Amino acid sequence: MTEYNKVEWKEAGMPACGPGEVVIKVAYASICGTDQHIFKGEFHPRTRTPMIMGHEFAGEIYETGEGVKGFEKGEKVAPDPIIWCGKCPACRRGHYPACTNLKLIGIDSDGGFAQYITLPASMLYRLPPEVPLEHAALVEILSIGFHAKNRAGVNPGDVVLIWGSGKVGLSILQAVRTVTDQAVFMVDILEERLSVGPKYYEHIIPVNASEEDPVARILDETGGNGVDIAFEAVGHAKHIDNVVNPVRGCIQSIRGGGKVCVLGLGGEPSPVLFRELIWKEGSLVTSRVSHGEFSETIENLGKGTLRPEALISRVVPASGTQDAFRILENHPGDNIKIVLDFS
Ligand SMILES: [Zn+2]
Ligand SMILES: [Zn+2]
Repeated sequence: MTEYNKVEWKEAGMPACGPGEVVIKVAYASICGTDQHIFKGEFHPRTRTPMIMGHEFAGEIYETGEGVKGFEKGEKVAPDPIIWCGKCPACRRGHYPACTNLKLIGIDSDGGFAQYITLPASMLYRLPPEVPLEHAALVEILSIGFHAKNRAGVNPGDVVLIWGSGKVGLSILQAVRTVTDQAVFMVDILEERLSVGPKYYEHIIPVNASEEDPVARILDETGGNGVDIAFEAVGHAKHIDNVVNPVRGCIQSIRGGGKVCVLGLGGEPSPVLFRELIWKEGSLVTSRVSHGEFSETIENLGKGTLRPEALISRVVPASGTQDAFRILENHPGDNIKIVLDFS
């Protein structure tokens, strides 16, 4: 990105490989919602131009630095892009996603929208050879789904609500489906997004919040009981007449003793009536990035239990990145994820 809103395909030079480091030959990278904000300059001054974006990517090992053990040239890898400080109170308790100094490659330093990148070997996860690299570029976003699933403690037999059917909501769906085969309600206002879940999974109940009241529908379908666990994955509260905001809608949709897990990073307050949660003695948890779920995600990708293709709307050559950002901005409904081909 040479300036905000402008991506150019340029020569950057081959990155060096120091001790403990690995050079990755990037095969595929995926554009994240965060990248869209960075592109528009909304992360300034945390980001500066020129920079190389990209924190969701995968490739093959091209070179290993001095002292690197356990990785060999040609192996498929996906990096966990998070860098935590290890010193703050959250880190000292092992709660890395809450690190007060949390940094990400592709935001705080150059990232993976490039043919080659050097990273510490400690950030890499090895992929089974049978996982296509195109799917490996989705390990990061899928891990966010697995982290949310683990934060909420989804159990076999749970009935689940996912409010928001974008990339995060659909990643949560994939993680949830490794645990429970019961009904999953998917709420959104974009029909194209609501159509994705049922295409890949059984027992998905799409609910269009611009056409009906999601809470009334969910209570009706569950015999008035509500769901065991509700995830809020919207992030921006677009006001819809006669429909509560997503967080409060989740609270109203859970059963007594149920759980709400909030992920959406909205910039506006979401009013809730705590009495509605207290009467149910429900729990409210939040989920940010991931913590160790790369292994769980990769294991499931290897077993073929996930549907990564459900997230990929199109694959474009990396030279078309500028256009990809424009498409994501103008056509959010039918573009869940655009994957960039660096090979
Ligand atoms: Zn991301
Ligand atoms: Zn920390």
